[in-house]
Amino acid sequence: MSQKTYAGQPVVRLNNGIDIPALGFGVWQIDDQKVCEDTVIKAIRTGYRMIDTAAIYQNEIGVGKAVQNSGVKRDDLFITSKLWVQDHGYEKAKKAFQRTLDRLQLDYLDMYLIHWPYGDFLGSWKAMEELYHEGKIKAIGVCNFTVEKLEELKADSTIIPAVNQIELHPIFQQKELQVYDRENGIATQPWSPLGNGNADLLNNEALKTIAEKYQKTVPQVILRWHLQEGFVVIPKSVTPSRIEENFNVFDFELTEDEMNVVRSLNTDKRLFFDPKDPEWEQKMLHSVADI
Ligand code: NDP
Repeated sequence: MSQKTYAGQPVVRLNNGIDIPALGFGVWQIDDQKVCEDTVIKAIRTGYRMIDTAAIYQNEIGVGKAVQNSGVKRDDLFITSKLWVQDHGYEKAKKAFQRTLDRLQLDYLDMYLIHWPYGDFLGSWKAMEELYHEGKIKAIGVCNFTVEKLEELKADSTIIPAVNQIELHPIFQQKELQVYDRENGIATQPWSPLGNGNADLLNNEALKTIAEKYQKTVPQVILRWHLQEGFVVIPKSVTPSRIEENFNVFDFELTEDEMNVVRSLNTDKRLFFDPKDPEWEQKMLHSVADI
């Protein structure tokens, strides 16, 4: 298949030569399939070409219907999904991947990610490497991997992950992991790029000042910061006006001083789950998910 161009949108080139739109659309916490379908159709018609779902979001059916009904050809879209913890291991991962394809009504994925680095993720990666070589996945990657887990994976695999999708927003910037990713050719993909709508972040006075200068909003300034850092960013919203707002970030540019203002907001404190927390790991390993 030839390289996709995504209507000329900015892209990031992954370590296997595949381009991914730099700005995509996340669908976590859109539980209802119909709401998800309508929301993703709105996003695609707004211009988003990359959709980020996961088996555990329980909305792959809605995403699949949106892809069918959006009016944009499937091959002009970049669709990502993720392998859930309960499906780790070589055989289980292959079956889970096929279930994901079936729910999405697709015959290939642009990207497939390990959702959390627990259990037999090395067995899963072997399955993903095979699916990649068979052309059923165009790029494989991981989420929530620490440097230690990335090293563990590297020691037992032939493919370096194309992306590492991690919690990353101005409040929690994971600079050490950013550097590791960069030095190893892994694209950093922030999840919760707006801090999941964190009120302190969206009401930050320094960000408001920058936003006023460009007649933009604080979320737009934050998304612009992500893009200028070179990240692949996936804001989520079910609100039509915000879906448009979050896409409307290609007509202004932050100065280096303004980039530094955003960088200075880092507190090194997570808003969400810590991959290294043993309690969280146990919870994930024993979570009961019917997917
Ligand atoms: P965001 O950081 O984009 O935050 C979404 C929240 O912010 C929603 O409550 C939304 O409200 C609100 N919001 C969005 N845009 C605006 C705006 N312009 N102004 C004010 N509020 C706004 O997203 P997520 O936390 O969902 O993370 C993004 C994506 O990352 C997820 O959807 C998922 O695809 C992925 N992810 C991956 C994880 C992983 O482990 N791999 C973990 C978490 C997320 P509303 O919808 O009501 O408009």
